[in-house]
Amino acid sequence: MDLGIKGRTAIVCAASKGLGKGTALALAQEGVNVVITARTKSEIEATAEEIRKATGVKVTAIAGDITTEEGRKAVLAACPDPDILINNAGGPPPGDFKDFTLDDWRKAVEWNMITPIALIKATVYGMMDRGFGRIVNITSQSVKAPIASLELSNGARTGLTGAIAVIARKASRNNVTINNILPGPFDTDRLRSSTKRMAELQGQDEDKVVASRKAAIPAGRFGTTVEFGAAAAFLCSQHAGFITGQNLLLDGGSFPGSM
Ligand code: NAP
Repeated sequence: MDLGIKGRTAIVCAASKGLGKGTALALAQEGVNVVITARTKSEIEATAEEIRKATGVKVTAIAGDITTEEGRKAVLAACPDPDILINNAGGPPPGDFKDFTLDDWRKAVEWNMITPIALIKATVYGMMDRGFGRIVNITSQSVKAPIASLELSNGARTGLTGAIAVIARKASRNNVTINNILPGPFDTDRLRSSTKRMAELQGQDEDKVVASRKAAIPAGRFGTTVEFGAAAAFLCSQHAGFITGQNLLLDGGSFPGSM
């Protein structure tokens, strides 16, 4: 299927690896020019070169922390009028409610709620004026079903979901959509390092922990970044203009509810 977005421009945040990179690559394969960000300069430049070589589109690498005002200013200076915005950043650390400080909560809200809100606010009205826009927030399955050790993430990401629900509907009149993708376990560095930590804490062999995590997923495996990118790219396509304010769970069937 031709997604109908060739020649468009996308900002993809936090995209030197993992879900962000998978999304940037999928968009680039559709002929979208991408502006990608990450904190580590060498890695974002290497990813930019890889995507350029693979697809031939224009790829701009911006090194900086997207959760800071300075980081957001840099990406918006490079691309003030994107057609597509993919909001993504690192997730807050795991822990227990009794140990989190108020500062931990402030940081989680800054990373996973305020940052996407700031980028949406800076771009959505221009998209509406131009009559096309697609915004996808990468959140987490924790919005649908809270995860015990990830209370910081549960709270901030659920806050974002509520915060954008009204503007998503308002913007749709101008062919601008805002949706959230809720990843379950995807095979990325983040998942690999959390599995390693889990194995250490449980004093278990890492392979056994991976096998038991996979066995708990109805699909029997982790998702791939290619699958993630393809789903995100579809939500950014010209065909997806009637889908807005939705929360798309990509979890291999893990959520136990009928809907
Ligand atoms: P990943 O493989 O560790 O990749 C994270 C990417 O984000 C890297 O490119 C990293 O580069 C960049 N990044 C992190 N913090 C940043 C910041 N403040 N500013 C700019 N770039 C930043 O992680 P992932 O698995 O793709 O996860 C992406 C998001 O999805 C996270 O919020 C995660 O919590 C969420 N999620 C993931 C899963 C999963 O199974 N993978 C499931 C649910 C939710 P630098 O370190 O160089 O900045």
